[in-house]
Amino acid sequence: MLVVMRLDASRKEIDTVKARISSFGFTPHEIPGVQRVAIGITGNKAKVDPEIFLTLPGVVDVVSVSKPFKLVGRDFKPEQTVITVGTGSFGGKEIGIIAGPCSVESRGQILEIADLVKSTGAKFLRGGAFKPRTSPYAFQGLKLEGLEYLKEAAERTGLSVVTEVKDVETLPLVAEHSDILQIGARNMYNFSLLEKVGELGKPVLLKRSFAATIEELLMAAEYILSKGNYNVILCERGIRTFETYTRNTLDLNAVPLVKKLSHLPIIVDPSHGTGAWDLVSPLAQAAIVAGADGLMLEIHSHPEEALSDGFQSLKPETFLRLMRKLHSVAELAGRTLS
Ligand code: PEP
Ligand code: MN
Repeated sequence: MLVVMRLDASRKEIDTVKARISSFGFTPHEIPGVQRVAIGITGNKAKVDPEIFLTLPGVVDVVSVSKPFKLVGRDFKPEQTVITVGTGSFGGKEIGIIAGPCSVESRGQILEIADLVKSTGAKFLRGGAFKPRTSPYAFQGLKLEGLEYLKEAAERTGLSVVTEVKDVETLPLVAEHSDILQIGARNMYNFSLLEKVGELGKPVLLKRSFAATIEELLMAAEYILSKGNYNVILCERGIRTFETYTRNTLDLNAVPLVKKLSHLPIIVDPSHGTGAWDLVSPLAQAAIVAGADGLMLEIHSHPEEALSDGFQSLKPETFLRLMRKLHSVAELAGRTLS
């Protein structure tokens, strides 16, 4: 349920409505809009009588929200959310580019890639330090050492760091060394982790699980917002289908669909979405035309030697070529690329 305030509602009137919501044991969520303030209500087990709020000063309407997701929905907040981190952003006119290796492998590797990413005007550096791997015998990441290299690369270049947080235990460490916390596809259903990053308030990149419906992705985001953290960027990274030529099937439907259902920014990861480096460039362009707010791209100086996901990583020259192309694609889509 959503309490819509009058255009000229005072601070006192807004606070009175919030106090009334709390007095019933529900949680008020103030949603500032360009036009007016609305207050979302969550935590109610049954339907709330709208009359309780309609009689309060400053209230213009009480709207019931039938969708399972509340705070992430356009019903609650019609205006697009723009998330600014460092010098870049997601959800505005500018397209946010996150690029880097799948895993941080060495200090030299990440410093070299960071310079390359920086040279294209991209604002975000990725690299996994805690890697969720299918096999327990596969490279698990450099852990703290990897985080320290990422931080050093960020300090040298001014790029912002996006890195995955695998569990609640390592969350404080990963948060200390990063600007955006990535929740990977395998953890999209880890509700305790979602709640914890919600409490922390740091920007989150939430990747869709390979078997999740779009509604499940939005409900996972709802966990984070319900704890007070509105800085969530969604990521389409491909889903599992019967197709075997590709690692995953990139579901570009998700982009315009999420735009319709939610105010949160959505970006696309064509690297995991295809699992094939030579498919990354066409799908990256298609994602922008479909309305994506950003891209996540895996790159590696020597993909054949990569410790993870080399087969889907772009070589520096291919990455540079793609970035040049993306400028005109962004323009076509009415967007800009820094
Ligand atoms: C990654 O970004 O390196 C990753 C592991 O992605 P996903 O969680 O989408 O598989
Ligand atoms: Mn990867």
